[in-house]
Amino acid sequence: MQGDGPERCSHTLDPERWEREHDEPCQIDPKDDADILETGDGRQVWRCPHAATKAHDKCVFHLQPDEKPEDTDSVEEFLAIVDGERDALDGDGQRPPQFIGSIFEGLDINRERFGDGKTIDLRHARVGRMVWRVNIIDAPINASGAVIEGICECGDVTFQSDVLFKSAHFEYKTSFADPTYSFASRSGKLVTLFDEQKYQGTIFNGVPYFSALSSTNKLIFRALSLIMNPTLTRQDLTRRLRLNM
Ligand SMILES: [Zn+2]
Repeated sequence: MQGDGPERCSHTLDPERWEREHDEPCQIDPKDDADILETGDGRQVWRCPHAATKAHDKCVFHLQPDEKPEDTDSVEEFLAIVDGERDALDGDGQRPPQFIGSIFEGLDINRERFGDGKTIDLRHARVGRMVWRVNIIDAPINASGAVIEGICECGDVTFQSDVLFKSAHFEYKTSFADPTYSFASRSGKLVTLFDEQKYQGTIFNGVPYFSALSSTNKLIFRALSLIMNPTLTRQDLTRRLRLNM
């Protein structure tokens, strides 16, 4: 239905085509992710749910940095969507917090909390720098296959739900200081940032810095590419730490 509202962003991701064009598996699986894919011309593709800007056929998350309109702050727009403050373009409920393949020059966030329970999907996103001064994140995050090109600082963030960085690339300094406040979260769910599934294939090119790391699960760094030595301080590892590279 075409109304007077904004056009929908034209960005799509075809998982099969993505795999042909890249040297690594696509983190969007046509079977597991069927509920977020659309079928057209016999193909299953993910199509961006956000509004195109006035001057382009893409949203602020999929435009190249030099194409982004100056009067729109893409981080504020990201926060409005993850907090459930944007309606779906077809008028059916809230806009899903899906930012697959998005481009952020910077994703710096400075606020008490964000998220409204729905998974924030940052798969295959490219983020210039990511400094989160946030106390609580109330939503799972899936940043599998994301590329963090600049500094990544999530010090003192309490993740209330699962955080996935499977096959992500951290190309600069990375800091998840004290990520464990919510391990015994109110939901009773353990947050395991560093388990086998979640960090498999992850590449750290810079110095990963995990301070005050506390884990009740075994930590496995498998198939990680640690170009520089990781810094692990004040660990409280009740089982074991295994480096298997
Ligand atoms: Zn888009």
